[in-house]
Amino acid sequence: MKLTVLGASGGIGRGLRTISFLVDDDILIDAGTGVNDLTLDQMAAIRHVFLTHAHLDHIACLPMLADAALDRRARPLTIHALPETLATLKDSIFNNRVWPDYTAKPTPEAPWVALEPVIVGQAVRLHGRTVTPLPARHSVPAVGYAVEGETGGFAYSGDTTLCEPFWTAVNRLPKLRYMFLECTFRDDVSPEQAQEWGHMTPHLWMQALELYTGSAEARVVHMEPGKEDRTLDQLAHAAGIPLMQAESGGVFNL
Ligand SMILES: [Zn+2]
Ligand SMILES: [Zn+2]
Repeated sequence: MKLTVLGASGGIGRGLRTISFLVDDDILIDAGTGVNDLTLDQMAAIRHVFLTHAHLDHIACLPMLADAALDRRARPLTIHALPETLATLKDSIFNNRVWPDYTAKPTPEAPWVALEPVIVGQAVRLHGRTVTPLPARHSVPAVGYAVEGETGGFAYSGDTTLCEPFWTAVNRLPKLRYMFLECTFRDDVSPEQAQEWGHMTPHLWMQALELYTGSAEARVVHMEPGKEDRTLDQLAHAAGIPLMQAESGGVFNL
């Protein structure tokens, strides 16, 4: 299984792209602005999109990805997400006002986009790859994902504050080799404020890692633009070792 990091930032700016991971050539995990680096052929090859939640930085490119290469897809582009996230997409994006309702076009019987609800803990199997929604704790309904192939896999927290059930779930996945974990804030944000926003701070990150019993390597994602160095400094100080951020263009063979 091949993982390509298309975007790993919490925001935009020159050289920064919001979160999106490409698994092999047909599965996308979140659809942030990193998707914009794909060629039209690569976009046409994507069959499944798994969304962590409906916030704009995670779905920014989804409407236009659905549009790209419409006539070259033999089957609908399937969007997998929590029922609440799918309802938000229907109400706020694919509503014939912001964007055409591709879930009912060209015909309701054979639409260009299919919506598929996920359930936390219930794996979706796609040609030898398993995608499992993981618990998360954010300001809106959200999940993380574990993606596993034959020989290895990775977990991605999505947007979340400290969430013990996430760690209980990843502790049961021995094949994980990498974990992509958000650290949106610095420690000038109190743990209480961070929990209210549903995000992590370096302080909470260290508490979270103490819950982990496996051996996957951690990579930092979703830092606020322009604040990456300070965030990484605080993480390194708290951990006692430098921590690496995930960068767009990074490739992991698992
Ligand atoms: Zn969010
Ligand atoms: Zn986000």
